[in-house]
Amino acid sequence: MPDTDFVMPTYGRMDISFSKGEGAYLYTDSGDKYLDFISGIAVTNLGHCHPHMVKALQKQAETLWHTSNLYNVDLQTKAAKRLCENSFGDQVFFCNSGAEANEAAIKTARKFHSERGRPQAHRIIAHRNAFHGRTLATLAMTGKSAIMEGFQPHVQGFDHVNVGEVDKIKKLITPETAAIIIEPVQGEGGVKLVDADYLKALRKICDEFGLLLIFDEVQCGMGRTGKLFAHEWSGVKPDIMSLAKGLGGGVPVGACIATEDAACGMGPSTHGTTFGGQPLVMSAVNALLDIILEESFLQEVASVGDYFESALSNLAAEFPEFFEAEVKGAGLMRALKAKITNMDIVKKCMDHGLLVFVAGDNVVRFLPPLIIEKAHVDEAAEKIKSALLEMRQEAA
Ligand SMILES: *Cc1c(COP(=O)(O)O)cnc(C)c1O
Repeated sequence: MPDTDFVMPTYGRMDISFSKGEGAYLYTDSGDKYLDFISGIAVTNLGHCHPHMVKALQKQAETLWHTSNLYNVDLQTKAAKRLCENSFGDQVFFCNSGAEANEAAIKTARKFHSERGRPQAHRIIAHRNAFHGRTLATLAMTGKSAIMEGFQPHVQGFDHVNVGEVDKIKKLITPETAAIIIEPVQGEGGVKLVDADYLKALRKICDEFGLLLIFDEVQCGMGRTGKLFAHEWSGVKPDIMSLAKGLGGGVPVGACIATEDAACGMGPSTHGTTFGGQPLVMSAVNALLDIILEESFLQEVASVGDYFESALSNLAAEFPEFFEAEVKGAGLMRALKAKITNMDIVKKCMDHGLLVFVAGDNVVRFLPPLIIEKAHVDEAAEKIKSALLEMRQEAA
């Protein structure tokens, strides 16, 4: 049996592995080079082995790795302060993944209400077509039967609406409701931007009914859309936000950020983690923040993002048999809806040296590292074009 059989087959993997990464490129052992426009699913946001991050991690690896949260961790304090200074938040809980960040968000919301004398308020209104993770609570919050099947009994306390259903939400709210959660850009659901007006309406409902508003920015946060956090485009502030994926640029880390008010219940021993916020990982987070908080960094992401949008728009116009015209997303979080099976396009792009991936609603999803330049966009467009030309020929 092949050695890969020793890995629990929870993923239908493509049969390739990479041994080296540099900037926007990945290399196989045999030296094949790929332009990486998926970034480990929005994780390696500064590309592979960014020199500043390598230096920070090397230095930290020689100094101190782990001490636990029994003690202050200076690099954790520093990262928390920087995230708060650059967001709506006042306090950060660091963990190790997006699902854990959402678990922390759920607990923070429930505890807020119990602290305020409303222990019955525990239900969270979530949105269909979202993705919040794979733990028992976060998959119940995601609410998609395909990923819940076989894992009964499901965690209770989640109601679901479609994006835009303001009236339905108002009808669902009872004294048991604690919060509303939404991804400002639905990533796995097909890179769907949520309307700013709808986010505003959610803020208003939360204020009116005393609920907390939670934004899941695990995928769309950390500069992906050309703002540090995607919700900044709408001007709406949440009470709690979850982060992960791009937060460590490739080291596993998540965070739950909250206002002081929303986090009022999260005192000593209410929540915890052995690994979360450890020095080695926090050195990477701080190094990443050094770069993406630079004056012009996010402006550049937005500008290359616009350039990418028009490149995709041109491709869609040139290949109307493969793609619908609308370019989805913002900044460097983009997608095109395919008219054939999206995975066929993904595989063909890979044959032509470009890594992209699928998402819901039959889209092909593009998540290049945020350090790319226009030349990388041109190169990607060339590769997509040659892939589609080949598919056109095969179809003829
Ligand atoms: C990936 C993702 C998660 C889950 O993150 P994990 O690190 O895989 O647990 C949660 N929410 C969103 C929006 C995501 O894209």
